Amino acid sequence: MDASKFTFSELEAKKALLLEELNSDEQNQITTYGDHDPFSVPILRCDKCGEDGLLKHERHSNGNFKYFVQCTGCGNFHKTMGKSPELGILLWNIINPNGFYYARFPLFGISGLSPEEAKDRMMKIRRNLEIRDNLAVIEVITNPVVGQQKPAIMYKKRIKLYLHWAIWAQAAIRAQLPQKYRKKQHLVEPGNESVEPNS
Ligand SMILES: [Zn+2]
Repeated sequence: MDASKFTFSELEAKKALLLEELNSDEQNQITTYGDHDPFSVPILRCDKCGEDGLLKHERHSNGNFKYFVQCTGCGNFHKTMGKSPELGILLWNIINPNGFYYARFPLFGISGLSPEEAKDRMMKIRRNLEIRDNLAVIEVITNPVVGQQKPAIMYKKRIKLYLHWAIWAQAAIRAQLPQKYRKKQHLVEPGNESVEPNS
């Protein structure tokens, strides 16, 4: 959401709607994402060539650094750069979902679920995080009190990371879904089976 496009009263109205959705029967069941620190993110290997990804950064004209991971083998990278190293790594992981089986995810309570169950759960959690992400953006804009700003910005960063962890989890689940058509094999970890070409 680009909050700069909205007036203060529009943002207040938007906030009320988002809070209403957050309190809905579907959303109010989601009270935690898990104990894992979202700032601790592993860098996955490249799905295309299997080589390691390397975290890099560039300085932009406004002086801020932006972060991305590039494959040390084929040079593949995500076109979008992250505002933080963690976000840069998560964007890379999202486009390389085969390197981390969804049942090993330390967040969102999906480890014991089938791919279909995990997919349904993640749709709710993704929406939950989108709501909280939008609320966090509105909070920072509508409460520009210096003393309150820093915790609000830190919270916003944290939610943004959880949101990208969720997008990565969805990609990791999606990588497993076609296998539901294969009997007894749908919980085999990707590293233990042969890779099938897409064509
Ligand atoms: Zn590569």
